[in-house]
Amino acid sequence: MAAKQKRIALMGFRSVGKSSVTIQFIEKQFVDSYDPTIENTFHKNLKIKGQEYALEVVDTAGQDEYSILPQSYYISVDGYVLVYSVNSRKSFDVIKIVYDKLLDMKGSSNIPVVLVGNKNDLQNDRVVSVDEGKKLASEWNVKFLETSAKEYQTVNEVFIQIVSAIERAEGGGTPE
Ligand code: GDP
Ligand code: MG
Repeated sequence: MAAKQKRIALMGFRSVGKSSVTIQFIEKQFVDSYDPTIENTFHKNLKIKGQEYALEVVDTAGQDEYSILPQSYYISVDGYVLVYSVNSRKSFDVIKIVYDKLLDMKGSSNIPVVLVGNKNDLQNDRVVSVDEGKKLASEWNVKFLETSAKEYQTVNEVFIQIVSAIERAEGGGTPE
């Protein structure tokens, strides 16, 4: 069976761990200092329930409340991983703005999205509760996950979930 090609973009405020989550997924390692200014695209194949996916993962340089999203983010991207960090209220506020901008541009609320609260290893610095993340995701009607880019398993789950969301939006159901 041919691999299905999907492009996924990670978006969110600076320093929330977009690059760390991406690198953890692609290379199974945690890099501590990754250039925060560059945007990079990575490739990885992932098999979900017998279906092979050729994923293109766009690790964006990040957004803030004033960012204008480039056309390339909403034309050719199949699904969005929207990341905040549980130790940053600002990043949680910014992710809502990014989502609203995506909705505006797409002109539809049926956008494949997974909401991710990263850095959940930093329990002492937590300022955004699990419930707040869950509540926002249920308003959007999307999946919610907390992750730590330091741990591989939760990170892998993010990509499984976004592929499932893409399949649901395309009406393909969950992959067999
Ligand atoms: P980006 O700007 O969103 O791409 O963020 P980076 O991936 O560059 O991460 C910013 C900083 O947060 C770096 O120092 C990372 O090592 C750190 N970081 C990223 N993810 C985690 C995490 O899950 N836990 C902890 N403790 N630190 C993290
Ligand atoms: Mg980065």
